[in-house]
Amino acid sequence: MTILGATGSIGLNTLDVVRRHPDRFSVYALTAATRVDEMAALCREFRPALAVMADEQAAQLLAERLSNQPETRVLAGERGLCEVAADPAVNTVMAAIVGAAGLAPTLAAVDAGKRVLLANKEALVMSGQLFMDAVARSGAELLPIDSEHNAIFQCLPSGQVRDLPGAGVRRILLTASGGPFRSHTAEQLRTVTPAQACKHPNWSMGQKISVDSATLMNKGLELIEACWLFNTTPDCIEVHVHPESIIHSMVEYVDGSVLAQLGSPDMRTPIANGMAWPDRVEAGVDALDLFALGRFHFERPDPVRFPCLRLAAEAFARGGTAPTVLNAANEAAVAAFLEGHLCFADIPVIIERTMESLPVRPALDFDGIFAADREARAQALELIRQVRG
Ligand code: NAD
Ligand code: MG
Repeated sequence: MTILGATGSIGLNTLDVVRRHPDRFSVYALTAATRVDEMAALCREFRPALAVMADEQAAQLLAERLSNQPETRVLAGERGLCEVAADPAVNTVMAAIVGAAGLAPTLAAVDAGKRVLLANKEALVMSGQLFMDAVARSGAELLPIDSEHNAIFQCLPSGQVRDLPGAGVRRILLTASGGPFRSHTAEQLRTVTPAQACKHPNWSMGQKISVDSATLMNKGLELIEACWLFNTTPDCIEVHVHPESIIHSMVEYVDGSVLAQLGSPDMRTPIANGMAWPDRVEAGVDALDLFALGRFHFERPDPVRFPCLRLAAEAFARGGTAPTVLNAANEAAVAAFLEGHLCFADIPVIIERTMESLPVRPALDFDGIFAADREARAQALELIRQVRG
């Protein structure tokens, strides 16, 4: 396996599953952005043939740190990331870099026809049809790791994941925790801090996706992700806020059956499912205690306090580069919020204004996607400067 984003929350959970099954999985390459200490420790334990740091200086430091471990070669930069994603020695690539930075290496894995375990939803959201075309062309095996999409995947007949009408599916019921501010008033949302936003009630995750969960943009990105993975449209998907995060999503069939996948909120379940599919392996996850849980709750998302879900549906409907712009503006706004430069309630404002101020272009090729991404980030940064006054 190559694990892109090994030092992150998904990367570490993946390595925990690897650790439990040394007979079945082995690590060929690990990658990270800047965290040299964490990466050096992982390299000592897993002894990969290749280790990549996206940051050149960090790569130099890592190489010094590993000078007494000659079996691990250190590479740097995006070229190194793409190289280990496409390396012929690898059959499975965990795509767990956060954000648009993951698109090029994930695509390299797709183009090389790997089993691609997709956690990096932003890569698919920003390039949609082009990404799915690349999967079809190369014969890569794309398996969803996002817990909701993995749940839906498990509730669909395995040959008909992209033929919902043929499978007799009426709707997908996409569950959402509602995030840490589910019960906050609009007034309260103006003063929440990054630390509060990153404290998710059920899941322990990286900072960016934690903020996305708090704004519900995570569900917006997941709505788009589900449309591409399962070849459907937003009108066949209904978001259900389910604060317990035990039902990870559901599929409703025309005969009235609703199939759900349940489990403790622990990403090792979908990760192990993708790694071992179609088999099942032990993942170290606590058994579900339904007696202790007692009951489940469901509510509709509030479009007024949480406009990001609507913005995502609009971006998907507009098509072309609109989802690329949505994703880039969101990444810029979330980063500004985490740095203390933007208030939480202004995240959707920045995204909406960025979308309004840029034209939607047809998504003809990946160069066009990267250009739209750059343009939208620059525009969002300019709007953030204006909001800050
Ligand atoms: P994280 O912030 O914990 O880790 C991100 C990883 O990406 C790190 O290893 C980091 O070194 C690497 N990285 C960051 N910027 C990079 C760059 N510019 N170039 C190369 N590498 C870079 O994030 P996470 O929570 O593990 O999330 C990773 C992805 O998985 C995201 O797309 C997220 O939406 C998705 N995801 C995460 C969870 C979860 O529970 N954490 C659940 C579902 C989906
Ligand atoms: Mg999810």
